[in-house]
Amino acid sequence: MTILEKDSKHLWHPLTQHQTAREPIVITRAKGAVMYDDAGNEYIDGIASWYTAMYGHGNEYITSAMHKQMQQLDFVMFSGFTHPPAVTLAEKLVEILPGNQEKVFFNDNGSTAVEAAIKMSLQYYHNKGDKRDTLIAFEDGFHGDTFGAMSASGLSSYNGPFEDFLLKVERIPTPQEDNLEEVMAKLEAILASNKCAAFIFEPLVQGAAGMKFHSVSGLDALVQKCRESNVLTIADEIMTGFGKTGTVFACDQLDNKPDIMCLSKALTAGMFPLSITSCTQEIFEGFLSEEVHKGFFHAHTFSAHPVGCAAAIAGIEVLQTQEITQSRERINAAHRAFVQRVKAHHKVNNVRVKGVIIAIDLTIEMARYGNLRDELYQFFMQRGVALRPLGNTIYVLPPYVITDKELDKVYGAIQEALDHF
Ligand SMILES: *Cc1c(COP(=O)(O)O)cnc(C)c1O
Repeated sequence: MTILEKDSKHLWHPLTQHQTAREPIVITRAKGAVMYDDAGNEYIDGIASWYTAMYGHGNEYITSAMHKQMQQLDFVMFSGFTHPPAVTLAEKLVEILPGNQEKVFFNDNGSTAVEAAIKMSLQYYHNKGDKRDTLIAFEDGFHGDTFGAMSASGLSSYNGPFEDFLLKVERIPTPQEDNLEEVMAKLEAILASNKCAAFIFEPLVQGAAGMKFHSVSGLDALVQKCRESNVLTIADEIMTGFGKTGTVFACDQLDNKPDIMCLSKALTAGMFPLSITSCTQEIFEGFLSEEVHKGFFHAHTFSAHPVGCAAAIAGIEVLQTQEITQSRERINAAHRAFVQRVKAHHKVNNVRVKGVIIAIDLTIEMARYGNLRDELYQFFMQRGVALRPLGNTIYVLPPYVITDKELDKVYGAIQEALDHF
């Protein structure tokens, strides 16, 4: 049997309708910004494998740090034990996170980081004897696929069968330049008529919604309003974190800092599943008590996996090099130049850039998982460029190590697609 025959015999892939899906591509190797399939074809990883492999696949500085860690201490439970890589990583994170973040809680993926953040905010008030049952979230947000995270997500294409089983969430539109008063009024109405525990949001960019941007000052005002109303704020930086929006964290662009933050994806440079829920000292202290059950009784077996911590420490070191800082600026400048080339194209409805992210909305309508979208996906793959259009939005979020030549190849494929579709 070929590997694909064996795959179809035993495997169930995520986000896949197996009755109609095309065969997956067998990737056997990846280096830098390029992935190689079993037939020797090359594909530029235009979205850094779901925004994780930002310092390039197979980054040797990171893999060797992991290798060393694995030989030193492979794994130990994180309840009742601690270890140097977890402590070093926490120290490093607190150094680069917004100044109010003091405590680091470990989980093992993005959804569980959000899950922990939601439970923290609910229990924070519960511990005070103040029962709150409502979350506030943006329309079309995405926060993950476990139940709490899914409840906060507003993309109905994922939630359909589960809608009757979700947490109570009230939604507001994202703040744009022209709707801030309306969004603020909606938030105020929600705050007035519900017992809200927290407002959870993807700061500045909604990834899964199609790389939708919103107003920095608008978000700042919403966070401030929540603070004044004694409602916690949770910034889900799982996609935006570690340099993608121009600053290290998107929240660096806000004056009002969130109480809780969620990190994953690029945290470990795509090398290991790990996530963080960080919070302020004040939240942490809300769990201190002589009563045991007021502690945070939430754990994942692989909490603070030492090998993941080693990857994250090395990843942050790479992020802070001048080479990567310059590369991020180089990609941003290249994106902005590409905007000038395509913005007047009659198939381009909107094109926007933030940090290393460029997104192009086409004038052609496409269903999120429709045939035309699949053809577009295929069109790019045939040209050696791996992109995952979200409906009719084409976006690029490349590894910081992508070369100019590789970037040009990505732009070339997009330009060809504009003329072809
Ligand atoms: C990917 C993502 C998640 C979920 O992370 P998983 O590791 O896939 O569970 C949550 N929030 C945002 C903003 C994401 O981009």
